[in-house]
Amino acid sequence: SDSHKAPRETLGPRLVKGALYTYVRPESQYESELLAVSSAAMRDIGLKDSEEQSERFKAAMAGNVIFWNEATKEGVYPWAQCYGGWQFGSWAGQLGDGRAISLFESTNPSTNIRYEIQLKGAGRTPYSRFADGKAVLRSSIREFIVSEALNALRIPTTRALALTALPHSRVLRERMEPGAIVARFAQSWLRIGTFDLLAARGDRDLIRRLADYAAEEVFGGWEALPGKEIEDQKERLVGPVENGLPKDKIQGAGETEENRYTRLYREIVRRNARTVAAWQAYAFTNGVLNTDNTSILGLSIDFGPFAFLDDFDPNYTPNHDDHLLRYSYRNQPTIIWWNLVRLGESLAELIGAGAKVDDAHFKEKGVTEDFLPELVRRAETVIEKIGEEYKSVFLEEYKRLMTARLGLKTTKQGDFETLYSELLDTMEALEIDFNQFFRKLSGLKFAQLNNEKERKKVAEIFFHREGVTGINNTEEAARERISNWLQIWKNRVLEDWGEGFELEREQVMKEVNPKFIPKSWVLDEVIRRVEKDNDRAVLQQVLHMALHPFQERWEGNDSDQERFCGDVPRLGRAMQCSCSS
Ligand code: AMP
Ligand code: MG
Ligand code: MG
Repeated sequence: SDSHKAPRETLGPRLVKGALYTYVRPESQYESELLAVSSAAMRDIGLKDSEEQSERFKAAMAGNVIFWNEATKEGVYPWAQCYGGWQFGSWAGQLGDGRAISLFESTNPSTNIRYEIQLKGAGRTPYSRFADGKAVLRSSIREFIVSEALNALRIPTTRALALTALPHSRVLRERMEPGAIVARFAQSWLRIGTFDLLAARGDRDLIRRLADYAAEEVFGGWEALPGKEIEDQKERLVGPVENGLPKDKIQGAGETEENRYTRLYREIVRRNARTVAAWQAYAFTNGVLNTDNTSILGLSIDFGPFAFLDDFDPNYTPNHDDHLLRYSYRNQPTIIWWNLVRLGESLAELIGAGAKVDDAHFKEKGVTEDFLPELVRRAETVIEKIGEEYKSVFLEEYKRLMTARLGLKTTKQGDFETLYSELLDTMEALEIDFNQFFRKLSGLKFAQLNNEKERKKVAEIFFHREGVTGINNTEEAARERISNWLQIWKNRVLEDWGEGFELEREQVMKEVNPKFIPKSWVLDEVIRRVEKDNDRAVLQQVLHMALHPFQERWEGNDSDQERFCGDVPRLGRAMQCSCSS
């Protein structure tokens, strides 16, 4: 009765210490509707397609089944993870899975890959803080489609298995909206923010245990985390070879060996570098790259106000509230590195301890508090070096992808300036749709590009039919600019392929240049038709296209298909949305 004496936890956010998850069960739902299932996800998890018809599957996707038997105490009780995060550059404290609940882990016997399967929008958890633990249908459709689209584009990402509508649930956002649950999965849901939280609390023991867990359980064991190649090490750290042996083998090898936590950190850095390179190469923007939204596996994760760029505009951010453009397209590589430096700092004690760090080091000698600043200083040097590697892995992967997208077989000195930079500048200046450009380029025949007159005519296919704002890109100068680029491109392709092979080149290019990209305007139309018109076919159609983005055509409604791959309607370009959904 004395409400003012209620424990703090019941009044507000609950701080969970000394642990990284809490057991919690999903809310029960009634009359839910299974809207869509990803066939690719079923296959990857190792479930038969027919499974999706079963009542038990439907019930599980809605949060009505847990895999724990209270009577026999067997199985696994669902849980929510605890993590923190740096949000928009400031430390935000404890966050955690406020509306995601993991059900179980499952290993696909044919691939041996293990996934953690969780439900988003299944109700409150100890980490919900003041929010409702729910997800609205609108953002659930977006997350469901984009997860599977990114995967089909070969961009590392968390996945989506099923989308369930909760017709009876009304969720208050800007208005009352229908709720939904996305069943999603990943090899790990650990984020940089998971480490950050422990660092902020000074929980040194748990950081080490978490790092061990990550290496052993997520990355497949310490031996799967390579150190720098000896060749490379001797160049960078000890200089030339002597008598056929790298010098470090002669003079105290231990000094140049990387300690295992550094190897773990490097792997996390390298994976994120490759993923952000793929985002840049396919013009994907996450929109909220806080450290709680940065996966240690380098997966694209947390799909709030994400978008693929329509017209190429490096300053574009899909996040309506991101006034400083912190999470703009252009800034993504920088911001991911900023996040990775926070991770390095959280791991500082472990990666600063040198090569000999192992359990004995901690158990027997311990690391005394007064030695910590020295370890942190040493870690800074390590982080700086790995920063160079971040840049080079990023560039290497970006070049690899762009080379492929341009139909080239090799990357040559000078390509960066004459091909990529000039192309990106041209696209920006002329408001050209980024991903459509590459698809259209794939289908060009060299016979169409013989002289300037022909090339200028071809240039028009890249322009919007509905025109653009501010400039007239059908002007002579615009066509000339594209014509000049096409001439350089053609010569460069001929250098790599020789004469002929046009069909082969087209085919190879179309395997990396998608015809379908789930643009914001398309997702908006799907949402509108699902919510207002009770249209289920359009969701199936777009899911199918997202799963097979490189195809020329698909089964289903032809006019929708062509429209969804076509010119972005003028008012649908560069849309933005807000974070909270
Ligand atoms: P996000 O901006 O999606 O990265 O979310 C930041 C934090 O807020 C995470 O800890 C989420 O779990 C939590 N959160 C966001 N929306 C909700 C909600 N509707 N209910 C509970 N927690 C939420
Ligand atoms: Mg998040
Ligand atoms: Mg989110």
